[in-house]
Amino acid sequence: MPKLHAQAARPDSVTAKPFGKTADGRTIQLYTLTNASGMQVALATFGGTVIRLLTPDRAGHPGDVALGFSTIEPYSTQSPYFGALIGRYANRIGKGRFTIDGKTCQLAKNNGPNSLHGGVMGFDKQLWTAEVLSQNPPAVRFSRLSPDGEEKFPGNLKVAATYTLTNRDELRIQYIAQTDKPTIVNLTNHTYFNLSGAGSGSILGHQVRIHASRFTPIGSTLIPTGEIKDVAGTPFDLRKWTTIGDKIRTVGGSPVGFDHNYVLNRYPVSRPALAAEVWDPASGRLLKVYTDQPGIQFYTGNFLDGTIKGKAGKVYRQHDAFCLETQHFPDSPNHPNFPSTVLRPGETFRSTTVYGFSVR
Ligand code: BGC
Repeated sequence: MPKLHAQAARPDSVTAKPFGKTADGRTIQLYTLTNASGMQVALATFGGTVIRLLTPDRAGHPGDVALGFSTIEPYSTQSPYFGALIGRYANRIGKGRFTIDGKTCQLAKNNGPNSLHGGVMGFDKQLWTAEVLSQNPPAVRFSRLSPDGEEKFPGNLKVAATYTLTNRDELRIQYIAQTDKPTIVNLTNHTYFNLSGAGSGSILGHQVRIHASRFTPIGSTLIPTGEIKDVAGTPFDLRKWTTIGDKIRTVGGSPVGFDHNYVLNRYPVSRPALAAEVWDPASGRLLKVYTDQPGIQFYTGNFLDGTIKGKAGKVYRQHDAFCLETQHFPDSPNHPNFPSTVLRPGETFRSTTVYGFSVR
């Protein structure tokens, strides 16, 4: 990758500075990780959030490809989960209800009749403790204890996400979680990407390829029907490179667009496998997503409606970004035919997702 910084002395590969305060007055820190080639990611302890992600285009010019805000305040008041760590249960749980060992838990219904992304005060709205693990490659670990009963989930959950910016221009996220009571866990990161740069317009010209022969069809409130369906012969078939705009009007939805969980072909795997790729012909940027999770939510920013003003005052409109959220399937606790998301005392949940950047 072309060098972003030509200076002789390389800046520290991990720096930290205060980045505002939480509503109750606790200081939020911003960690900036810079790798050997100059790629950069900035992460806030609020939500473990990716605030900025600088990668070069094919001419070597750095651009910020992650949607978000330049200050922390809007992340707690108006962010649709931009860049955040999501838990304790990423994606939806139908009617916000699930049963574990015969005990029913009722979560907050924060998305119509359903629970979304861990509830009202999910992991995205919590302050995490950060620890620098390494300067080369730059790595920061975000951890917290999600107390028993937080958002009505059972069990004290010790959870951490380690972000590493490798010298191969990959942002690697390693999740780990342990509980003291049976609970459910589904963790992801919710970065909204635009490979032409955040706020540069729509992603309909981007091309996508998802290594999934099946997906989980959904009903009107976006809860899976339980069916695991072949993509062949449906508009959801993204196994060959597809320009997003060519398919987006055919997948339905209200608002229209992709908001679907793909069942990855390579699962289970012992190390992260290639799950999805997006290429932006305009900038040349290529994103490759690797994971060891069974599913990936492909979401095309359908709910962005021009009411959010992000970094540099840019307005984010429908289809101005895409997300590739590696995960267990939505509403898994209510579908015994989906891979289980139950975590029990004595077990350790571990998972790795890699976002790899290059140009083509
Ligand atoms: C969901 C969308 C939702 C978005 C929230 C995605 O993970 O699939 O339906 O609107 O998160 O911003």
